[in-house]
Amino acid sequence: MIEITGVSKYYGSFPVLKNCTTRVDKGEVVVICGPSGSGKSTLIKCVNALEPISEGSIKVDGIEVNDPRTNLPELRTLVGMVFQNFELFPHLRIVENVMLAQRIVLGRSESAARKTAMTLLDRVGLADHAHKFPSQLSGGQQQRVAIARALAMNPKAMLFDEPTSALDPEMISEVLDVMTSLAAEGMTMMIVTHEMGFARKVATRMVFIDRGEIIEDRPTEEFFTSRHNPRTEAFLGKIL
Ligand code: ATP
Ligand code: MG
Repeated sequence: MIEITGVSKYYGSFPVLKNCTTRVDKGEVVVICGPSGSGKSTLIKCVNALEPISEGSIKVDGIEVNDPRTNLPELRTLVGMVFQNFELFPHLRIVENVMLAQRIVLGRSESAARKTAMTLLDRVGLADHAHKFPSQLSGGQQQRVAIARALAMNPKAMLFDEPTSALDPEMISEVLDVMTSLAAEGMTMMIVTHEMGFARKVATRMVFIDRGEIIEDRPTEEFFTSRHNPRTEAFLGKIL
């Protein structure tokens, strides 16, 4: 579903990503971890073309992301993205946040968009909050709205960049629970997170990235139980 092949990226002469190769097959959940500044956000943003790459290839569902002929709005409906800071539209009600891209990008009717929005808000446990504004919700609730909004586009894969790192501890699990149920339903996901308990339960593969290089890319259980490269050991030692 997502094929990343020999991807390098430079900011000026600084290499943020160095010859990265990995993939996320249909139904897989791949967790990306690594130290701050290692390139995790950059890698994930390259997948839906929020950042251009300097070398290599990224394909989503067979579509080359960096081909100038690729229709980017269409590509972004294929891969939903959820950010650390929710990025909801503050002036729109919750239900309108989930309706907007359905109306503008997919051209759905008002009533169809509202119906889908309410179904998805119900699914993330927020149907009762549909009429509120984002500022009236907790961080965990806002993040669940952001997930519902991404799902409203019927994506084939979902990208998450530290979806719980801005949340208070008691709200983390309500967001991880939604993600766990998405995984159980077979959603293809690429997730940057430091929540290693969640990763161990839900991920099919673990990718460890350090200074722009993919150092490990292994099945989850093997990643957590076998001996690693010293850089991985040092990182896991700090966060486990
Ligand atoms: P964190 O865990 O702190 O979120 P990260 O692994 O997501 O870190 P990135 O945000 O991808 O790291 O950044 C990777 C490197 O690229 C860092 O050294 C960062 O300073 C640099 N970088 C990121 N965005 C830019 C930019 N727009 N211009 C120049 N350098 C950048
Ligand atoms: Mg980041």
